Amino acid sequence: MEPDPYADFHSAETGGPFQDCISCGLDLDHDSDLPYLVAKSYRRGECIFEYAICDDCRSNMAQEFSSESRQALAHFFEKHVNVRERSIFLAFGDEPALWIEKCASCETPRNQLESYSLGGVLLGRNMIYDPYPLCLCGKCEEKIQGLLSQKTRGIWDDFVDTHFDGPPADVEDLPVRGRPIPF
Ligand SMILES: [Zn+2]
Ligand SMILES: [Zn+2]
Repeated sequence: MEPDPYADFHSAETGGPFQDCISCGLDLDHDSDLPYLVAKSYRRGECIFEYAICDDCRSNMAQEFSSESRQALAHFFEKHVNVRERSIFLAFGDEPALWIEKCASCETPRNQLESYSLGGVLLGRNMIYDPYPLCLCGKCEEKIQGLLSQKTRGIWDDFVDTHFDGPPADVEDLPVRGRPIPF
């Protein structure tokens, strides 16, 4: 059997596509014409944090971030992610693996990373490309985190507290806290 090219963006918990928006409960898999972001964080090859969030909820949350944080995030991507060069992957068609082979910022290959996060935007069961999907290593995530205001980090932490039963064991030292990325 061919490996599913979208497997990296399925729920590690269920093994299948994400079903619901973590925030509003929208059915993402059926009859929704709203794109959604899948975010997953890995450590030593194991997925330790994952969720899917619909575009509405995601932009509502992003609007709460301080404008300094939004600018800092945009600036980071402008400066450290070669968005234009990545667009070349579009020529290869529906191949999410190409987009997440290495950290989008420092370009360390994913298989050499101790911790990293993946983000992908889907519509139903289809991937929406450019600039997502992307991989960011733990170190680059920490750099981004350092750019965010207290207010923005607080909004993210509230989100995590509301939707997860506390951080899973063993992740306090991961950039899961205070981290609206991939956003
Ligand atoms: Zn939602
Ligand atoms: Zn990196």
